[in-house]
Amino acid sequence: MKQFKILYKDDKRLIEELKEIKQWRASHSAYITIFRIYSEDMDVEHIQDICDCLDDEMPDALYLGCTTNANIMDGALSDTKIILTCTIFEYETTQAKILQLPFTEENAVQDVEVLKGYCDANPWVQAVEMHATIMDMSMMEFCNEMSHLREDIQVFGGGAFNPDMDDDTAFVFSKGNGFLEHGIIFLLLGGEDFHTYSTFISGWKPLKRRFRITKADREILYELDGKPALDVYRRFLNINKNERFFSNTLEFPLFLEHGDVDILRCPLAVNDDDSLVMSSDMKEDAIVRLAYGDPETILASIREDGQNIADFCPEVIQTFSCAARKAFWGDENISDETILFNSVASTTGFYTHGEFIRIKGDMLNFNVTLVLVAMREGDIPENGNKVNIAKAQIDNDNNERIPIIRRFVSFIEASTAELEEMNMKLALTSVTDGLTRLYNRAEIERKIRRALDKRKNQEICNDISLIMLDIDNFKKVNDIYGHKEGDHVIQALSDVLRKTTEGVHACSLGRWGGEEFMILLSDSNVDDAAALAEKIRMEFSAVSYETAGCQTVSIGVTQAKDESADTIYNRVDKALYMAKAAGKNQVVRLD
Ligand code: GH3
Ligand code: MG
Ligand code: MG
Repeated sequence: MKQFKILYKDDKRLIEELKEIKQWRASHSAYITIFRIYSEDMDVEHIQDICDCLDDEMPDALYLGCTTNANIMDGALSDTKIILTCTIFEYETTQAKILQLPFTEENAVQDVEVLKGYCDANPWVQAVEMHATIMDMSMMEFCNEMSHLREDIQVFGGGAFNPDMDDDTAFVFSKGNGFLEHGIIFLLLGGEDFHTYSTFISGWKPLKRRFRITKADREILYELDGKPALDVYRRFLNINKNERFFSNTLEFPLFLEHGDVDILRCPLAVNDDDSLVMSSDMKEDAIVRLAYGDPETILASIREDGQNIADFCPEVIQTFSCAARKAFWGDENISDETILFNSVASTTGFYTHGEFIRIKGDMLNFNVTLVLVAMREGDIPENGNKVNIAKAQIDNDNNERIPIIRRFVSFIEASTAELEEMNMKLALTSVTDGLTRLYNRAEIERKIRRALDKRKNQEICNDISLIMLDIDNFKKVNDIYGHKEGDHVIQALSDVLRKTTEGVHACSLGRWGGEEFMILLSDSNVDDAAALAEKIRMEFSAVSYETAGCQTVSIGVTQAKDESADTIYNRVDKALYMAKAAGKNQVVRLD
């Protein structure tokens, strides 16, 4: 695979460069020739002139291209408005095919059917490079459908754009197919000697704090955790509605958890109702996190994750980098994150409106991401020199200091984790009893009320029963053996309760007060409850304490009818009183 690169100035110079390419082709084994044309120039006529030159000078060559936000040449932001790359395949086995189709939300799925049909009929297809106009489109269905392509096919690409980020005009074009403002180009590549590897890097790191999308519709994010989405930016980052909203939030886009892949989504604008216009679809119920980006952290990620590209020993590297990254870095510094790849292989590409890559069969639509595609014909040469990207960078700045923002983030994450742990402990202590670790009185009452309410509202129609227990002659235990031994007996009873009710469905244990306990059975009738009570009575009476010996309990049991909680408490309390009055150490049920 050989690549020529052309910075387009005018047709005359283009024709001269094409002549050189033709000369090279004449003296080498050259098979398919493909031009990619990336244009920040929105003038169709200018691009048409270039296409005409290619048609005239090299009628056998394929070409495809799109309008862009800016172009990447030799791993750096190019100041030439139109760039061309010419890739010549040197193996006879390599094959390529261009499909250009109209592309709107209505026919996106149909387009995938066409692509699928072609791929199924042509087993040589290994990779699909896409250039598409995607502004104002939901990519959800398209991506779902693309995920059904033959499993071994890699897909990567980018959304055509406009040099003006606020302008929605973009187009794609290819040989023989003209220009489309709503179009998609699939460049199919493959063959037994063609090899490709695609990956993506963002460099933005997610913070731990999670938010749930409670309301969203396509790319409008209405609510996070039940509050207007802007609240998260306002509360945690002091970012408000103003003309700098987009650039401020670029440093903190949202991470959307998608299986084990995290996808970045950028808030582009705020609506009057404090909902956010996002860079692509947001799914209700998904979990998002704030992510932070800073130059040093991003470069560190590229050093770490970019090595796979170098290890592939590519002959060319294609990049699809989000225009938002360029806005984040600024024109002065954006090249820092791609230039190192040019020391591996010729690196070209463009700044996109959304990036695409297929990961483990799943077609994903990214934002704020750098998609990298390594391509090679033939095997890795035996004496192949793998460039060490990390080393190349470290040599440059010669110290491996950790960016200060990482230290702050680690401080915030540690503090958040500590707080969360404390909150969990607090939540637990507020509902449990210290001595027995059963629910406290307030919580067991809450649970009983909730169960009764649910049945009243006909959310459930189960039998609800209560068991109330009181240790017999407990004052004596305290008087004779001391308060501490009394505590041990209370703890021992709570252990018996836990053990005996293990596996009982919908059962909650609470300490009602002193040496009295309440068991809520929200899916048992009074017969089952009385049987369980009897089992508890026997188990407890069989336990012998070191000093206090054997102790007993009296138990009242009842089943809830359609009545108030207080009426039920009175009845179960009465049953317990009857058990005491009848000589203790027994179960009484009152229906
Ligand atoms: P009865 O069989 O009629 O229930 O007789 P009783 O002696 O158990 O009488 P009662 O239930 O009225 O007495 C409860 C005693 O339990 C009173 C109180 O001193 C003791 N007690 C309450 N809470 C605790 C506790 O947390 N630890 C200990 N050791 N004793 C407690
Ligand atoms: Mg008592
Ligand atoms: Mg008692």
